[in-house]
Amino acid sequence: MPSMSETEMLKAWDRRYFWHPFTQMQCYGDDDPWIIERAEGHYLYDVDGARCLDAVASLWCNVHGHRHPRLDAALLEQLGKVAHTTALGASNPPAIRLAKKLVECTPESLQHCFFSEDGSEAVEVAIKMAAQYWANIGRPQKHLFLTLDNAYHGDTVGAVSVGGFPLFHEVYGHLLFPTRRLPSPYVLQWEQCQGDAAQAAKLWLNTLEVVLLAEKDHIAALILEGGVQGAAGILPFPPGVLSGAQKLCNTHEVLLVVDEVATGFGRSGQLFSCQKEQVEPDLLALGKGLSGGYLPIAATLTSEAIYQAFLAPFGEAKQFYYGHTFTANPLAAAVALENLSIFAEGYLLSEIPNKIEKLRAGLEVFHHQPWAGEPRQFGLMAAIPLRDPATGAAYPYGERVEYMVCKRAREMGVYSRPLGDLLTIVPPLSVTEQEIDTILHTLFDAMAEGRTQ
Ligand code: PLP
Repeated sequence: MPSMSETEMLKAWDRRYFWHPFTQMQCYGDDDPWIIERAEGHYLYDVDGARCLDAVASLWCNVHGHRHPRLDAALLEQLGKVAHTTALGASNPPAIRLAKKLVECTPESLQHCFFSEDGSEAVEVAIKMAAQYWANIGRPQKHLFLTLDNAYHGDTVGAVSVGGFPLFHEVYGHLLFPTRRLPSPYVLQWEQCQGDAAQAAKLWLNTLEVVLLAEKDHIAALILEGGVQGAAGILPFPPGVLSGAQKLCNTHEVLLVVDEVATGFGRSGQLFSCQKEQVEPDLLALGKGLSGGYLPIAATLTSEAIYQAFLAPFGEAKQFYYGHTFTANPLAAAVALENLSIFAEGYLLSEIPNKIEKLRAGLEVFHHQPWAGEPRQFGLMAAIPLRDPATGAAYPYGERVEYMVCKRAREMGVYSRPLGDLLTIVPPLSVTEQEIDTILHTLFDAMAEGRTQ
């Protein structure tokens, strides 16, 4: 018998040993595993030698493309010094510099930076900080969190608690802490306000105010994504929601946590999405693009008032009880610093409006197609609903037609990922306008082909 090729062996081991995230492993075994061996710029190369345009920025985190010479060099330089040391009772130069730069480039209200490893953790940190803040200043009864239907803030227990995905609450509900849920502003806009954004913002803010008036003595914080409910299917907030929420939170002594894990680092067209409405949050969660999508590092930025509430004589136990083995890892911090240096040069952000417009114009061809619903866009992220032309509705969940269409697009050279019944386009920010065209044309063809198996 011929011996297995190395590629076949890897695929067999992948199926046998590697339990993949958010994956039904029983189905994973049916497919030919897609194993990415290397990447260059905006292209991924798999072990079978095929190349594919990365239209989802490796899960919305890649900023400047893969193997960026400056990011690679920053990483290698730091590797020549030390790969990891602890931040508990010690510090390291890249993390110190990164904390300073993050405070300088985020809204003025944010004065201190706490590191963690990924977006879910940045949210966990924000939740624990907000609750402990109120306890430390003698108001422990303020421990409830206000959040949105369909919110996604990550998949750890705290992050799921403040999330609003019914499925996750169904499966893990017994582990979660209770929250107060507000309607999704986008759903309100389209289900109750006939698409009128101004009316929806007003209605949503009224709803928020009613809840705040009734329960402000028990509410620690309101947590909102940075202007769009991303994982819920790219559901943009009507303008005025974020800034109006901040005003109401200030008035009623409730903290505002803005989760910019997905929207931070240029995705909205601004470095941070909350800057669009001059929002000054009390806590800001960042992840994904912080290291340009290179290494796991996240950050929670806090106001001076929150930081001050944790200062006390040692024995009073007011310090923040959080910190993991790899917190503030110097390799990740060094590459994040270089990422911010590239942003500071300005050219990337200045090019984004044209790319956003290119994406908007290109999405028009999907309107009124029998196999597509209305596309949605927020900055340089978009989603196109896949529809069964026979019924005009989404395909039944279990049939995985979205998955098959994405697989077909990949065979045509573009990697997109399904998100429920949607196909997503969230490319690296350095994507070219020509590549945006390629992504749109390929998805158009793959979606028009529809069910292929
Ligand atoms: N918050 C938001 C808004 C997100 O979109 C995500 C991930 O998509 C997270 C938090 C969780 O980030 P991570 O997957 O890095 O834990």
